[in-house]
Amino acid sequence: MLEPTVPTVHSIAEFRTAYEDGQRLPGLRSGCGFVTATWGLVCPRCGKADLSEVDLSGRGRVVALSIQHVPSDEFLNEVPYAYVIVELEEGGRIAGWVAGVADESVLSIGSRVHWAPSYKPGVQFARDDPSPEGGSAP
Ligand SMILES: [Zn+2]
Repeated sequence: MLEPTVPTVHSIAEFRTAYEDGQRLPGLRSGCGFVTATWGLVCPRCGKADLSEVDLSGRGRVVALSIQHVPSDEFLNEVPYAYVIVELEEGGRIAGWVAGVADESVLSIGSRVHWAPSYKPGVQFARDDPSPEGGSAP
């Protein structure tokens, strides 16, 4: 999963295009082992320029969320939704959103999510296992 797919050279345009087109979710792994979903030229932890591009699974857990009832224009048809920070299984945190979240009974800190690319803007995630009506995850 985390084997380098591109030696070192990567551009911010390629990075953005990959996930905006829903092709793949690129990340960078430093020689020190740090993994980030954020594009850069040096490791944000140790500062070395020994980054290799990797494909991230897009699976992770919500570590922060903010439920939005007042959208920006591009999310006019999506409210309510949750703006989330997801900590990915491989490491790295990425900002995204989850559709159809009116309150924290639907999605909360610790919920498992996966990248669910669509034609919609941003980095869209979906819950792994939507709980049955009124239920809560074990
Ligand atoms: Zn490092």
